[in-house]
Amino acid sequence: MSAQAAAITEFVLKVHSRCDLRCDHCYIYVHRDRTWKDRPRAISPGIAHLAAQRIAEHARDHGLHRVRVILHGGEPLLLGAERLRALLSDLRATVRPAAEIDLVLQSNGILLDEELCRLFVEHGVLVGISLDGDAAANDRHRRFRNGASSHAEVLRALELLRRPEFRPAYGGLLCTIDLANDPIAVYEALLEQRPPRIDLLLPHATWDDPPPRPGGAAAPYAAWLLAVYRRWVADGRPVPIRLFDSLRSAAAGGPSQTEAVGLDAIGLATIETDGAWEQADSLKTAFHGAAATGFHVRTHSLDEVAAHPGVAVQRQGAAALSATCRDCEVLAQCGGGLRAHRYRTGGGFDNPSVYCADLKELILSMRREPDTGRPAPIVAPAPALDALLDDLATGAGSAEAVRTLLDARAAVDRTLLIDTLAEADLPEPAARAWALLRRIDATAPEAAVPVWRHPWLRVWTMRYLDGVDKSGPDYLARLAGAAAVRAGVEAELPLPVRDGRIHLPGLGIATLATTAALATLTVEAGRCTLRAPGADPVEVRDGAGPGWRPVLRAGPEQWPVLLDDLDEQRDCHEWPAADRLTPAAALAWDARLRDAWAVLGREAPEYRPALRWGVHTVAPLAVNPGGARRSATHRDAFAAIGVAATDAPATAILLVHELQHVKLGALLDLCDLADPAYLGTVPVGWRPDPRPVEAALQGIYAHLAVADLWRRRPGAPARASFEDSRRWVLEAIDAVTGTRALNGEGQRFVAGVLATVDGWAAAGP
Ligand code: SF4
Repeated sequence: MSAQAAAITEFVLKVHSRCDLRCDHCYIYVHRDRTWKDRPRAISPGIAHLAAQRIAEHARDHGLHRVRVILHGGEPLLLGAERLRALLSDLRATVRPAAEIDLVLQSNGILLDEELCRLFVEHGVLVGISLDGDAAANDRHRRFRNGASSHAEVLRALELLRRPEFRPAYGGLLCTIDLANDPIAVYEALLEQRPPRIDLLLPHATWDDPPPRPGGAAAPYAAWLLAVYRRWVADGRPVPIRLFDSLRSAAAGGPSQTEAVGLDAIGLATIETDGAWEQADSLKTAFHGAAATGFHVRTHSLDEVAAHPGVAVQRQGAAALSATCRDCEVLAQCGGGLRAHRYRTGGGFDNPSVYCADLKELILSMRREPDTGRPAPIVAPAPALDALLDDLATGAGSAEAVRTLLDARAAVDRTLLIDTLAEADLPEPAARAWALLRRIDATAPEAAVPVWRHPWLRVWTMRYLDGVDKSGPDYLARLAGAAAVRAGVEAELPLPVRDGRIHLPGLGIATLATTAALATLTVEAGRCTLRAPGADPVEVRDGAGPGWRPVLRAGPEQWPVLLDDLDEQRDCHEWPAADRLTPAAALAWDARLRDAWAVLGREAPEYRPALRWGVHTVAPLAVNPGGARRSATHRDAFAAIGVAATDAPATAILLVHELQHVKLGALLDLCDLADPAYLGTVPVGWRPDPRPVEAALQGIYAHLAVADLWRRRPGAPARASFEDSRRWVLEAIDAVTGTRALNGEGQRFVAGVLATVDGWAAAGP
């Protein structure tokens, strides 16, 4: 969701001001600025805490739901694991009560080890690694002070990040272009590291220090980038490349993902190790002190930083650009390039980019060469299926396995919706909304991802296909409206009003004092407003506001979930959904989920990463008047479960039980485990009625985890529960194996489950 125009949402936190490499293209140590020399090497806990307090205060004042903090240097890993752990804990504890916090760390990777990887997975930090290509390309600049190559060390770090248990912390690769490197060799070397994302950066330069242009070529950087672009398109865009994705998005009126191109308002501030507030770090390439504001975290609020001319100018779009840029045919995509690259002594930043010719050539060529490749996959290449089956059969399964499953599941849901609606004769306003959603998917795919990952998307799609959904296409219109708000794409969309309310899935609900059947959602210049005849407009925002109630969030900082008491599609389980939660009930749920998380941490911590990646939404169920515990997972729900209120230890069991259903449901989207033509049933211990093979496998997997938890609890009742669940698993495995309906994957999975149970016996109770 777009923040208020004047808010700062992205923070570069310098945690260490020195580096263990001496790259000769570094803008911090080698270009014009020398301020690093006077900074303390490491940020102190006190300064870091003050910065966190400022961020929290700013988030509260501006109703920000989410902020992004990039830990940066120098080399941030020089801070060491212990101090990084303390800093991350403090950041989360201080900022989280005010807003969600996305954490990123940009590193050269040299010091990355298992302990740090574990820390980053635990805190949800995405680690970006700098790599300029293959060994020859990387060694051209990225060397140690003594001239030695850093390439092998970087590859070692990337190997660590690719390990299943650490993959959730792999943020991507940052590659600085050098014309001396072959573009295709660089592209292939980067792909080899299986990154979730690639950033290609033009080397920092200004009109005072222009980039090398061998042989006087007019636009050699465009030629280099176009070589990569053409190959990337021909490959079917196998991984997001931020520069290309941003230019494609901006071409269709969508947002850019980088300050390097586009006209989006940028709300970014830097905090130096001494607590100085600074502007964009890249300005340091221009002149000594270029990024300074004269402000400090101790004495200046973020509203003051936001009002600083050097920070405010980044929100002024075309108005802040040179006359040449304002007249330029590619202005909307280029946006004058990175601000630092416009600098010239005398004229300041009132110039086109020093890469002007390259940017124009790149953009015009991309326009001339329409992308006919396959759409970008949401899923990174899946690991071998056998490895995935073995991983899941251990019970908890790794975070990487769960993430892979859910990425695949989101891709399936997207395809299902597109196929379902391809031929549909949608009425207005749904037809217009669907066109908007397709446009966002094509131009700002990241903003559409929450739609494909919406917990109830497939539930609605199937109900719509079956003709049983009461709201029909209205729900689709509201999904598209929510996507437009998230993308910040300029839009005007009519939305159906029901009983004076409009629910935007995943965002919240608006109450409009109107009897009109339609309201209009306007997304414009960072503001999202709902208007209906005769009613006061309602602003869609991150926090609560007049007429607007955002979705509820709950749970610990390591596992924040959407506590869904709004979405009509959530009422899809065999038990009824709970009514809208009172504030007190919402608080109780928050405490319950935190306590259950703590129980898991004490009893079965290996289930926590899987839960974190596998369950994003908890829909409270109505409590059983008879007192029996209730939980459920709908086969079509995405990373969402239903649970009725109970005590924390029981909630922990129910969460793990439903997590297993989420995982197995997603696995069954990827591959069959049994012959689908087999229609027989088998007896199972946990229910009186015989079950089809797939349902029996679901129960086996759920009770495997439940038994795993009970076996760790003391006392005779826990022992008895463990024995029951274990017996049910073994008996049901015998039954499904006896049908001979399991295929090779099913046999492998069941053998893995048996091995897990046998492992318990070997380990003792
Ligand atoms: S291509 Fe050149 S003139 Fe056009 S917007 Fe970019 S920098 Fe400015």
